[in-house]
Amino acid sequence: MSIHESIIDTIGNTPLVRLSRLHPPGNLVAKLEYTNPGGSVKERIALAMIEAAEASGELRPGGTIIEPTSGNTGVGLALVAAVRGYRVICTVPDKVSQEKRDLLRAYGVEVVIAPTEYGPDHSDSYYGVANKLASEIENSFQPNQYYNEANPRSHYESTGPEIWEQTEGEIGVWVAGVGTGGTITGAGRFLKERKPSVEVVGADPKGSIYTQGPGGEIHQYEVEGVGEDFYPVTVDLDVIDRFIEVSDEESFAMARRLPRTEGVLTGGSGGLAVEAGLQVAREETGRLVVVIVPDSGRGYLSKLFNDEWMASKGFTT
Ligand code: PMP
Repeated sequence: MSIHESIIDTIGNTPLVRLSRLHPPGNLVAKLEYTNPGGSVKERIALAMIEAAEASGELRPGGTIIEPTSGNTGVGLALVAAVRGYRVICTVPDKVSQEKRDLLRAYGVEVVIAPTEYGPDHSDSYYGVANKLASEIENSFQPNQYYNEANPRSHYESTGPEIWEQTEGEIGVWVAGVGTGGTITGAGRFLKERKPSVEVVGADPKGSIYTQGPGGEIHQYEVEGVGEDFYPVTVDLDVIDRFIEVSDEESFAMARRLPRTEGVLTGGSGGLAVEAGLQVAREETGRLVVVIVPDSGRGYLSKLFNDEWMASKGFTT
């Protein structure tokens, strides 16, 4: 019989798909993380952070998980918590769309809204509110994906080995968008240990610290889930050989092209990573390039897949 005992057992083991309609030489392949049960790469770290906290005693039966997040990490935590019997509270800034709030609530998450205008150090910001709730609620735990070593470790233990086995060691380049840096760091470290010649390439939105540097021109951009304005603890820059800067326009153009050419529906960060991967794959067609596709495009139908929204932001479609 092939019956999973819970939805948790279906996390990971995502497929690698060759993008040869987009790049006929055939050396560009995508790891489709939207085939995870909650639709994104973040279920891997949610499971790892919860299991680490259970093991350390930080999270005890019946406990409450509190995280400032509006997106994929919240869904990942919710899905694991549902099966394990934990309560989840997500604090989110009020700019977050109704759709995203509803998605979290569908999984039973208690959503607490905080004003977007306050910086992370302000007690009324969504970070501040999460800290306050964590101090007030007994048996509560904050995973904190930007500081939690279980984040990169989950990719060292699952994403990296999967790619190694799926490519039978033929991987030449590992390309990933960088947010917390957990994906690129964990999988990159594993792959380099197995094969030191593997090149690790970070894809970064224009305006983010990874390509701008701390003193650079850091500014807002539209692509979600990648790029930062500070260096998270979870990224190890020594694992990353180089970064490729990708604009919002290029990221969205690729995200819109992928469903039409490959039947692959992803968001802006998937478009960003595939655009960077395509540039690398063109440099040398003998090297196999593996690129991460972190989530589905379904969450962005009213944004980058909507012509009016694109026009309102000044992007040509
Ligand atoms: N894309 C999306 C949509 C994400 O939510 C994230 C996670 N922030 C990433 C890419 C980047 O992954 P990581 O945090 O592991 O660098």
